[in-house]
Amino acid sequence: MTAVVDRLNTEKTTFSVEFFPPRSDDEERILWRAVRELEPLDPAFVSVTYGAGGSSRDRTIRTTGRIAQETTLTPMAHLTAVDHSVAELRNVIGWYAASGVQNVLAVRGDPPGDPNGEWRQHPEGLTYAEELVRLVRELGEFCVGVAAFPHGHPRSTDLDIDADHLVRKIRAGAGFAIAQLFLEPEYFLRLRDRMVARGCDVPLLPGVMPITTPRVLGKFGELAGVPVPAEVSEQLMPLAEDPAGFRAAGVDLVTRLCERLIAEGVAALHFYTLNRSKATRQVVANLGL
Ligand code: FAD
Repeated sequence: MTAVVDRLNTEKTTFSVEFFPPRSDDEERILWRAVRELEPLDPAFVSVTYGAGGSSRDRTIRTTGRIAQETTLTPMAHLTAVDHSVAELRNVIGWYAASGVQNVLAVRGDPPGDPNGEWRQHPEGLTYAEELVRLVRELGEFCVGVAAFPHGHPRSTDLDIDADHLVRKIRAGAGFAIAQLFLEPEYFLRLRDRMVARGCDVPLLPGVMPITTPRVLGKFGELAGVPVPAEVSEQLMPLAEDPAGFRAAGVDLVTRLCERLIAEGVAALHFYTLNRSKATRQVVANLGL
């Protein structure tokens, strides 16, 4: 078993990829095609998100376990505190360990149904990701990561307080952080500065999503929690009726974003793949990784 932090502590610029658990046999085939296409590129790790329903959660456990057992890749399972008692969380963490998953991204999760609704703690559960980090670390030799927000967490009104909370999660035992999606590198770089100003120098991986279609661009806005920057829309949307042109321009734009980040000293990039590999492979090839 390999710890993500060991894969990140290298001289070479590297990348990682994120999947979601497949919901059907067809989706499972698509996911595994992407896994097999990315495997020869030796990503630092591959992560699988954790959903709200019981069946989706089982699929995260199964998918990460299968990646651990059937591939040469380093898997990381996400875990959230949503609708879980501490006893249930212990159980899931035990399943991760039993299936060979040593890396966990500990995130609080959003209220099911309405991501912007009021957070409700399970009566026997946890309130903040910081507590989840502690729980996972207590239960074994896990390497733990946390979420970070270049534009601030949607519930936070103050970027400095948000950074204080991020650093608390790291101090609770996390070895690295992955940033929410963004398209304007300054927001990410300023977050990194806020971490460094607080004496925190663990790897902060930018979340990067190759933009291949207008639908994916819309998805960016949903996930990032901020509007698509006007200059990006102005560049891409005139190509909305030209799928090949849109895709080429989107991959080029994301390649340039990554080049800027690498020039600023970023040593690892985390790609949101939406369970497809082609666009990520194109960006990775463009960057010469
Ligand atoms: P927390 O760190 O607990 O923060 C939540 C809010 O509370 C923030 O506003 C923060 O500033 C504040 N806060 C934190 N600590 C304290 C404290 N001690 N006192 C007072 N306030 C505090 N969601 C899923 O459902 N499944 C996934 O697999 C998933 N993967 C993700 C991966 C990445 C890389 C990212 C960036 C997000 C992911 N999310 C996922 C979404 C995430 O669960 C939500 O964005 C959630 O709202 C915040 O999670 P968190 O871990 O940052 O929470």
